[in-house]
Amino acid sequence: MSRRRVLQLAALAAVSAACADDDGPRATDSDAADASTEPSAATGSATTADVIVVGAGMAGLSAARRLADAGRRVIVLEANSVVGGRLRTDRSLGVAFDLGASWIHGTEGNPITDLAAAAGAPTVELDFDDVTAFDEGGARWTEDDFAEAEGRFEELAVRVLEEGDDDDSFEEILDEIEPGWADDRLRQFFVSTYLVFDTGDLDRLSAGLFDEGEAFDGPEVVMTDGYDRLATYLARGLDVRLGEPVVSVDDTGDEVVVTTASAGYTAADVIIAVPLGVMKAGTIAFSPDLPDEHREAIEGVGFNAVDKFLFVWDEVFWDDTDFLVYSPERRDVFNWFLNVDSLVPGTPALMTFAYADEARTSETASDDEVVALAMAHLRDMYGDGVPDPVAMRRSAWANDPFTLGSYSFTSAGTSMDHFDVLAAPVGRMHFAGEHTSREYFSTVHGAHLSGLRAAGEILDA
Ligand SMILES: Cc1cc2nc3c(=O)[nH]c(=O)nc-3n(C[C@H](O)[C@H](O)[C@H](O)COP(=O)(O)OP(=O)(O)OC[C@H]3O[C@@H](n4cnc5c(N)ncnc54)[C@H](O)[C@@H]3O)c2cc1C
Repeated sequence: MSRRRVLQLAALAAVSAACADDDGPRATDSDAADASTEPSAATGSATTADVIVVGAGMAGLSAARRLADAGRRVIVLEANSVVGGRLRTDRSLGVAFDLGASWIHGTEGNPITDLAAAAGAPTVELDFDDVTAFDEGGARWTEDDFAEAEGRFEELAVRVLEEGDDDDSFEEILDEIEPGWADDRLRQFFVSTYLVFDTGDLDRLSAGLFDEGEAFDGPEVVMTDGYDRLATYLARGLDVRLGEPVVSVDDTGDEVVVTTASAGYTAADVIIAVPLGVMKAGTIAFSPDLPDEHREAIEGVGFNAVDKFLFVWDEVFWDDTDFLVYSPERRDVFNWFLNVDSLVPGTPALMTFAYADEARTSETASDDEVVALAMAHLRDMYGDGVPDPVAMRRSAWANDPFTLGSYSFTSAGTSMDHFDVLAAPVGRMHFAGEHTSREYFSTVHGAHLSGLRAAGEILDA
């Protein structure tokens, strides 16, 4: 999904409105992620370095790469058995299924465009308007219906922005200005897929800040052979220690001491590049304690839940469009399907999504329950003759102990300054991760740029 697209649309609509009125992972088989995610790293035995980086996601690896290229001795400590963090690809079904990020959001000027090219990671542009849209009962929405509903959604988003405050939830204001908005099932689809997916739970999303964040221009492209290729590329030659969950960081002595479940490490500086969910959970003990301002920022920024599902059949039974839409009354689950056959021709598979509470609920559901719900939707769309899939894979980010959610968002209670606080060093402890990027939070490029920024703090000192 064009996660930034809705925000661009809303911003455009806001401009015209202003002119007008002058105003562990769990894939079903998660460990089946391809062995190519193993870094070709020079894993060493030293326990002392110039810099220790905690977390081998895009942020941590980007920081480590920059520091190592500048001649610093770097050890990367990663809790998981693979590098990449939320860049995780499952190839066990013969197709590269990204459990985390899929898209480069806006290719022009986006550093991930160059990184993907350098890593030899192929991409494809899908057309968000190439859609077959169904209502309940298998009735097809026309292109006009779809476009009009999109317009109604954009108008509503702009009104919420105008009438809501930062501390109000999007849903609260929506209910106030348009009671019964959810009776319009197609508009509900847009709220769900263009907004909740992109941001976070409607009842927690800030009415005044939901469109914050910058976006790159250019098309949105999808990785076709796995986003993890970028992580593997960045990790090559780095000293990455896998299966090393950090439990404490002590910045009270001559050197920073970083302790994992099995060893102790020392360095002049440390970069902590773990997800906001892990920071919220207090998994890592900091000495001295993080300042109150930092703790408030950790609490203040929202961390959502989004899960992805891949269903594979023997043959394609759906329309030859890039996306399928379904508009049931129950929102936030299996209402938007990406046609994998458009990405990798000859692949009879659909990728679909669950957001917010529906994502959290899905993670406790059995595979059979998940398949049953997806098939209820697909059979309502395409008829009772549609067979069950032959295989399924899925993520479970909210229950992954090394992530505990999917990506950050501006919730009621977030201040944009929180992102700056999250990015600010505390003593010799530096911080990176998508949640430390005021401009580009919730994205791969935000994570990458934050890693470069944290490395720069150390190199420029
Ligand atoms: C379902 C989903 C879809 C997404 N879609 C997109 C998209 O299409 N495009 C896009 O740009 N972005 C997308 N994102 C967001 C993007 O994936 C993230 O913003 C980005 O990958 C985060 O990188 P990071 O380095 O900040 O964190 P992570 O990738 O989470 O890396 C943090 C690392 O820290 C490790 N760690 C955690 N705790 C410890 C510990 N105690 N000790 C040591 N290591 C630890 C973790 O295992 C992990 O490897 C998506 C995310 C999800 C979940």
